[in-house]
Amino acid sequence: MRLRFVGCGDAFGSGGRYNTCFHVAGEKVNFLIDCGASSLPALKRNSISRDEIDLVLITHFHGDHFGGLPFLMLDAQFTRRSRPLVIAGPQGIERRLEQVMEALFENSSKQERRFDLRIVELKAETAASFGAVEVTPFPVMHGDSGGPFLGYRIEVEGRIIAFTGDTEWTDALIPLGRDADLFISECYFYDREVKNHLNLKTLSAHLAEIRPKRLILTHMGEDMLARLDTLGIETAADGMVVEI
Ligand SMILES: [Zn+2]
Ligand SMILES: [Zn+2]
Repeated sequence: MRLRFVGCGDAFGSGGRYNTCFHVAGEKVNFLIDCGASSLPALKRNSISRDEIDLVLITHFHGDHFGGLPFLMLDAQFTRRSRPLVIAGPQGIERRLEQVMEALFENSSKQERRFDLRIVELKAETAASFGAVEVTPFPVMHGDSGGPFLGYRIEVEGRIIAFTGDTEWTDALIPLGRDADLFISECYFYDREVKNHLNLKTLSAHLAEIRPKRLILTHMGEDMLARLDTLGIETAADGMVVEI
C-alpha cells in the first residue's frame, strides 16, 4: 500500500506547497484524506486517476482541507465519472459541501450526476467502515468556530495510518496515533505555542506516549520549513510516496 503526499502545505501555500491532500492506494483501497483548494491540480500533477478514487475523508471544513471538493466534483462530472463516490467528514458536511459548491460554481450542487454520490457524517469515537477502510475519528482542537474538527485513525489492509488533521495538542492524539504504522502529524511551528496548531516541541514531548512506528510531519509553516535540514525528523514533501 502506498500513501502519496499530493499536497502537504498549510493554508497559505508556505514554501509553494499545495494544500493538504493525501492519496492512499492499496490492493483493495483507493482514497483521499482531505482535499484542499489546490488538490485537483495537485492530483493531476501526480497523474493520479480521480476516477479510481472511491472515498474522500475530510478532517474539517477549512479551505485548505475541504475547498477542493467543488473542483473534484465538477471534474468528475465533466470526465463522465460513473463510479460511485463517498465523501465522509464531520457533522454538517452535506450542507457545507452544498454551500461551497454554490459559492464557487452556481447551481453545481443541483446538477444531476452520472455517478452515485454518498455523503456520510462521521462522529467522534464512532468507527465507520467504507469497504476495506475502517476509520475511527477523534475530536481535535482547532478553534471555537467552524468545527467539528476531526483527526483520523485509519485501519486499512492490516496497517494503521493516523492523521492529526489540524489541531493544537490534545490528549486525543494519544489513542489516535498509538503504535500507528504511519503517524502523520501537523506541525505548523517549531517551538512557538499558538492556539489551534501544534509545534514540534510540544509534539516531541508526547511522542513517547504515542509511540508511532513512523512519524512524518506535515502542514508546516515558514518557521518549520526554514529548519527542514536540521530537524532530524522525517517531513513530508509534495509528491512524496511512502510504502506502508
Ligand atoms: Zn490547515
Ligand atoms: Zn484548519
